This record gives sequence, structure tokens and C-alpha cells, in this order.
Amino acid sequence: MVAKKPAARRGLSEYKRKRDFARTPEPAPRPARSATRRSFVVQKHRATALHYDFRLEIGDAMPSWAVPKGPSLDPSQKRLAMQVEDHPLEYAGFEGVIPEGEYGGGTVMIWDEGTYEMLDDVDPAVALRKGEIRFTLDGHKLKGRWTLVRTGPRRWLLIKGRDTYARTTDITVSRPRSVRTKRLLAEIARDEGGNVEKAATGDPAPRRVVASAKP
Ligand code: MN
Repeated sequence: MVAKKPAARRGLSEYKRKRDFARTPEPAPRPARSATRRSFVVQKHRATALHYDFRLEIGDAMPSWAVPKGPSLDPSQKRLAMQVEDHPLEYAGFEGVIPEGEYGGGTVMIWDEGTYEMLDDVDPAVALRKGEIRFTLDGHKLKGRWTLVRTGPRRWLLIKGRDTYARTTDITVSRPRSVRTKRLLAEIARDEGGNVEKAATGDPAPRRVVASAKP
């Protein structure tokens, strides 16, 4: 007798194989859930000011932090992360334009996404309450060990751990595009009827081609 295998997840491999999620508006399947592996997303958001919304799946919601400078791969660069309201899990799939005048009006990009695992086998909800969350990220841009530590009411720091994924290059500059659609903020705004000029201020300045002036 053959043991019954859960077919639901296995069944998505064909769905994924047939589609290029950078080209089709159809939803990409979310990474499989398990007791230890949960989803995270970083949404680059050009609202009143540019920031990166860092969200971790904990329980049935995504506790969220607004990181004005974005994550840094340099362990010596502790990035301010202001805790904001929890978001629904479905929000992790949102890339597009929030109408001007609405809360958070502006352009949103899925800048990175993937899964995370807690270090030390700790319950993330407990770590969140205690104000120190230690985890490893398995994203497209962000990998390895990270810590979120609370330093005041709603005020946290996001810090890269010292491991083989640490870098001194600024990943917000070197990898500015959506991991889902490869678009810049201005391209998302253009495609979705947003304010292109405002969105473009969140994209890296176009590189000027300068003739090398070696003596
Ligand atoms: Mn935001």
C-alpha cells in the first residue's frame, strides 16, 4: 500500500514551470509554509518619504517595520526600523500604486521576498514581545543572519549578522528593482497610473557615462 502524500504543494510545480511571473499578472505561489519556515517581504514604498517596509509572517499577520534607509548588508550599519501596524499576509503580494490622498499614497515595489527561520528555535511571537528577533533570511537579495532589536517604543534597529552574506556594498543601490517584475519604481508608476516623477525620486539616479580620465 502506498502512503498518501499531500499533493497540494507538489501539484504547484507544473503551475510554476509553465509561467514566467515576471511577465504574467497571475499570482506566483507563496513559499510552502511549515512550522519553522515563514514568509517575509520587503516592499520599497515611495510615499511621503521613501522607505522600505520590512514584514515578517508571525501567526496570522505580518508585523511590519518602516526602514527609511532600507536594509544594509554591512553589520556595522544599524538601520532604524519604526514598527508600524501589522499587515495581512495577502499584503506581501502587493505591488502597485496607492492613490494619492489615501493612506500611504504612492508607489509600492516588492523589493525582496522569501522565507525566514528563527535562530535558536524561538517562537517569533514571543521574540517580538520581548523586543529581540534573531532570524535567517532566505530571500533573493537578503540572506543569512539578521537581528531586529527594540530600542524604544515602536523604535527598532535592523542589523545584519556577521556571516558570509555580509557585504559593504549598498544593496539598495546595486539591486534597485522589483524581484517579481524587475521594474523600477518609476516603471511601476507608469504601468499602473501613478505619479511617475515622484516614484522616480525613489529610484537610483541614472548612471552618467564618464570617460575614464586616467593620466
Ligand atoms: Mn510603507
